[in-house]
Amino acid sequence: MSRPLIVAIDGPAGAGKSSVSKVLSLRLGFTLVDTGAIYRCVALKAVRGGVALDDVPGLQALLDQVKVTFRMDVDKNHVFLDGEDVSDDIRTSEVSAAASKVSAQPVVRSALLGLQRRLALAAEKGAILEGRDIGTVVFPDADIKVFLFADPSIRARRRYEELFQHQQEKPVDQVLADQNKRDKEDSERAVAPLKAADDAVKIDSTELPLSEVVGRIEALVSAKRVI
Ligand code: C5P
Repeated sequence: MSRPLIVAIDGPAGAGKSSVSKVLSLRLGFTLVDTGAIYRCVALKAVRGGVALDDVPGLQALLDQVKVTFRMDVDKNHVFLDGEDVSDDIRTSEVSAAASKVSAQPVVRSALLGLQRRLALAAEKGAILEGRDIGTVVFPDADIKVFLFADPSIRARRRYEELFQHQQEKPVDQVLADQNKRDKEDSERAVAPLKAADDAVKIDSTELPLSEVVGRIEALVSAKRVI
């Protein structure tokens, strides 16, 4: 049986992965799997339950019960943790920092691997997975691999605007410092660090409008479908 077309979009925070993936999934009719949201749900559940972010048995117990699902609306990809819509709760700075910590734990990464693959393989036409290790670990044989990056100060500016829209304004210098810390943790962890797959198409979104990035990835998808 043939599997759905798999599009892997990796890159650091603020490179534009979420916006690009959302538009692409609507245009192509592909399922969107926001893998960062899955790690954020685990982090939120740990924070709420008072489980230390490096407590391996505690995290294991939590992973045995956690349920993460998505529902795509026209405007938003809703994320549900154990049936509760946590789309906004998982976007706070506290949860961002906690997600980066729990995602460095091998027990968390291996428990979530199967879920990410299942969500993608259940897609009818194709799946877009956005994350840090999709092209290297989750789907090393993805049909299309993109590594999206941008200048750190531009990424921090985008994140600042996103926080502002969610009434969580923070000085942009602070946003940049938090982002640098998260990039460092994500890139230097021992298991599945953030890095471009050797065969990924690298796109620098610093100066590119969203439509241009979407157009480039859509062209990669069209080329695959013809072959
Ligand atoms: O992409 P997003 O900022 O929502 O991801 C939150 C955190 O989850 C990242 O900082 C990273 O630590 C972790 N993550 C990961 N692997 C992925 C996706 C996200 O480690 N595939």
